[in-house]
Amino acid sequence: MDNSAPAPTKILYIEDDPASRRLVQRVLDSKGYQVVVAADGLEGISMARQHHPNLILMDINLPSMDGREITTRLRSLPNFSETPIVALTANHSAGSRELALAAGCTGFLTKPIDVTSFPSQVNAYLHGLADPLSANEKNEHLQRHAQNLVVRLENKIHELESANKRLRELDRLKSDFIIMVSHELRTPLTLISGYAHLLDEQVKQTENILSAEMVSGVAEGLNLGVSRMRDVVNEIIKVARIASGTLDLALGPVRLSEVVQDVYEEYREVVEKRHLNIQIGDLSKLPILQGDGTQLKSAIYHIFSNAIKYTPDGGSIFIVGRAVGDTVDLIIQDTGIGIPDNEHRRIFDQFYTLGSIEHHSTSKFAFQGGGLGLGLAIVKGIIEAHNGRVWVESERRDLEQFPGSTFHILLPLEQAKQPATL
Ligand code: ADP
Repeated sequence: MDNSAPAPTKILYIEDDPASRRLVQRVLDSKGYQVVVAADGLEGISMARQHHPNLILMDINLPSMDGREITTRLRSLPNFSETPIVALTANHSAGSRELALAAGCTGFLTKPIDVTSFPSQVNAYLHGLADPLSANEKNEHLQRHAQNLVVRLENKIHELESANKRLRELDRLKSDFIIMVSHELRTPLTLISGYAHLLDEQVKQTENILSAEMVSGVAEGLNLGVSRMRDVVNEIIKVARIASGTLDLALGPVRLSEVVQDVYEEYREVVEKRHLNIQIGDLSKLPILQGDGTQLKSAIYHIFSNAIKYTPDGGSIFIVGRAVGDTVDLIIQDTGIGIPDNEHRRIFDQFYTLGSIEHHSTSKFAFQGGGLGLGLAIVKGIIEAHNGRVWVESERRDLEQFPGSTFHILLPLEQAKQPATL
């Protein structure tokens, strides 16, 4: 004797709003139905194929595919030509019922549901109820449905085309980036192998006793090469951390005057060599802010080094700061080549270096010397991790008139409390 209970009636509910899903699930569960839910159209279609429900409840306003489109798609599948599909929607506007029926729905119910009558309404559809739609109405609304589909298709094609364009551009930027990284790494490698070779030669000439001075010169050369390689690798690691959201801030009190002075000290020699005029305003009056001093130094370092790189010999760089409400605005202005208006946002993207890579040179601080296109992406990542903003103002790019660029770093004085990690 077969003691097994009959399989419960299965209902699939496709709905993006969790509260509606819970309510319908609870009401139908209590009447003995087995309810499965899907949060969007594509998931709904695959759940329908997997579960073969006896009835489908369909929200109409869904992200990506809407309920009418899902219904039309389900009706084209062999197993779903007869399955009752009932629209369940908050959209009561004129024509929405007819449009849903023309798209293939069996019935049309409105939200919010009436908890007492809802199970018997569902039961009626399960037992063959179908909302009427005259042939004329069906024709008229099928046409509207088809037109809506074509408009949506057109919009989707536009979206896909622009996403594709963006991906192709990113792909090109990444290829350029790989070439530049190889280039950046090859220079210090040449340096290292040159010095290693020199040392080898000296050792082989046995009659030539190695002098401490000579060894120290070689060691210095090797160190220089290694340190340049380390800089390149660190920059790549930092940008990867920022992209994956794993940049941890060690918060503490930060005096921007000290940070700026530290950065400036690192450039003193280059500044003198390139006859640049650096003017730093009185930053000591700026309020102390809460932040990660090391990361903020790295952000300011990148903006300052760009100001140096893109300003011709003899040009000027001004650094001033002002307190604005509960934020500080640090301004780094140069008299360099400037940045075209349409590039003001993109220069903060990873791998974005304006201009052709053929002109890329490894000389880091020479006028228009090359970089990896990571500097400003790192700056943006660090500043945004501090809940701040960074942007640039510049009229145009002009390699003869030098209109200059002005970078703003806006930082809040306080950081919101970090949630305790478990
Ligand atoms: P890069 O390594 O190429 O310098 P960045 O991310 O630091 O990369 O900068 C991206 C691009 O923004 C640069 O290639 C340059 O064209 C432009 N740029 C950045 N700072 C300045 C500046 N101060 N003046 C002119 N152009 C700048």
